[in-house]
Amino acid sequence: MSVTDLTSMAEAQKQDRLEIDQRLQKLRLEASERCYQCGKCTSGCEAHKLLELEPHRIVALLKGGLISEMTASDLIWTCVSCFKCMERCPQKVAPVNILFALKNLSVMNGKDVPGNYTAMLQSAMSMGLIQDLQEVVDRAGAVRTRDSLGLPPVSKPVDMEKFATAIMGTAVEKV
Ligand code: SF4
Ligand code: SF4
Repeated sequence: MSVTDLTSMAEAQKQDRLEIDQRLQKLRLEASERCYQCGKCTSGCEAHKLLELEPHRIVALLKGGLISEMTASDLIWTCVSCFKCMERCPQKVAPVNILFALKNLSVMNGKDVPGNYTAMLQSAMSMGLIQDLQEVVDRAGAVRTRDSLGLPPVSKPVDMEKFATAIMGTAVEKV
């Protein structure tokens, strides 16, 4: 499965607009009932460390009904889907699921998926990693590989087709 397929999936998903709206309303209700804005999700967020994503604010904006503002923003695409916000939340809120729904709605609204995101997705679906293995330069200027650093080889999916299907299935289920 390729990113081109993702684009055509987005087209097909237009029929599911009602389902996504219902999903967001359900998430909004859950967030309103449970989230007390403790910020624990944001303090562990991988995208918050380097970018400006603040999952607790995403939850607050959803509670306030600012859905169209969020779907128009590139910020929602900075989420790397690590699920830490869901794991850390003491109230069983899942900001990551809100972000999945917002991303799907954004595509349905005709917004282009940012290039970095499609490149990452294409890489994951073609080799099982969001980017290829990198070499690093140490303080002495020597180029080091995982091997030379004594690190174990990175495991990759054995069945890429199955892996890609699982990724796409997850994305759809999270809607
Ligand atoms: S960790 Fe949970 S309760 Fe705390 S701000 Fe995030 S979503 Fe809300
Ligand atoms: S899933 Fe997204 S929002 Fe949640 S912690 Fe990871 S990067 Fe942050």
